[in-house]
Amino acid sequence: MFHHDDDAGVPLIDVARENDPIQHELDTAWSRVRESGRFVFGPEVELLEERIAEHCRVSHGIGCASGSDALLLALMALDIGPGDEVILPSFTFFATASAVWRLGGMPVFVDIEPVHFQMDLEKLEAAITRSTKAIMPVHLFGQCGEMGEIMKIAHRHGLAVVEDAAQAIGAEYNGHRAGGIGDIGCFSFYPTKNLGAFGDGGMLTTNDDKIGQRLRLLRGHGMAPRYYHREVGINSRLDALQAAVLNVKWNHLSGWTDARRSNAGRYDHLFREADLTDWISLPSQDSRCRHVWNQYVIRVPDGRRDDLRAYLAERNIGTEIYYPVPVHRQDCFAALDYPAGQMPETERAAGEVLAIPIFPGLTVEEQSRVVGACRSFYTNQRAAVAA
Ligand SMILES: *Cc1c(COP(=O)(O)O)cnc(C)c1O
Repeated sequence: MFHHDDDAGVPLIDVARENDPIQHELDTAWSRVRESGRFVFGPEVELLEERIAEHCRVSHGIGCASGSDALLLALMALDIGPGDEVILPSFTFFATASAVWRLGGMPVFVDIEPVHFQMDLEKLEAAITRSTKAIMPVHLFGQCGEMGEIMKIAHRHGLAVVEDAAQAIGAEYNGHRAGGIGDIGCFSFYPTKNLGAFGDGGMLTTNDDKIGQRLRLLRGHGMAPRYYHREVGINSRLDALQAAVLNVKWNHLSGWTDARRSNAGRYDHLFREADLTDWISLPSQDSRCRHVWNQYVIRVPDGRRDDLRAYLAERNIGTEIYYPVPVHRQDCFAALDYPAGQMPETERAAGEVLAIPIFPGLTVEEQSRVVGACRSFYTNQRAAVAA
């Protein structure tokens, strides 16, 4: 089915390789939804909610319309509002911060440590004030933040913890599942995530009955019973069709995660073998974590990242920069007035990171081609310096 000639490119992600082999299962699931006539919530959504809650070893899974909504709903359930501060990394997807801002709260950004791209714990603790209400660790690229320490800090200061686990379904910290450690976990089923829908979807997890009930209410316009509104919620529904797709894919997720993990191990080996580790840094696994490799992100120092990326693009090798502009430097947050250089590690990472293909269906031969192209880029660089 796939070409393996040397000139062929390598896509950053190829969802068809995930979906084609399960086409029949997906067709059956869709027919089931069509025949049921239940298109919003219903048994498919409930099954997915139960599965994700069980996976996270918590008592509640609450489906919603997206990962961004999950973050927003989580903060709504914690009553975050004007005057409240929420601590989070700036090196994340925008939605982590916008959830705080949307509710009138103040996002307080903390610099990362450079090895795992996680919040620097000393800086995190130093950022706590009397107005701090919550901490939002982000399990970036599929690896958990330092949840043991973060939970200790949170307990010490009486703060809630909302995990942004959008990229980390199946990840673990000391055997605890991502999304099941803090007060609330937030997942995304955006198509590029490890468990991807055919559109948008999200999930909240919590072990707190009160919060679970509140989240259920909030995602459905605060309505209970029908047309009686107890509070002002939002409309954030998970479609039965998306849930049906996700229920099919759920049965394949652990196999896909294993494939991502072995692809990562193979890259480590190939990059070392190609003698490239003096030039680029490979992603580092925290020994306490089970990494699920939503992204395999190398660091390319010395201002060469964009050149390497262009070189790979000429060879049709897909890459992406997650994320080129730290959230605190975004135009919409200019009013927060963070001075340049305040978050050196975040800014340095934004200039050096490069995600290369890691999706489950990636072949060994394609991985060799990616590493081979990096190798020839550096061979050319050295030749240019020598000339
Ligand atoms: C994808 C993502 C989100 C948002 O999820 P959507 O489903 O796209 O709204 C939030 N945080 C992080 C870290 C993400 O990667």
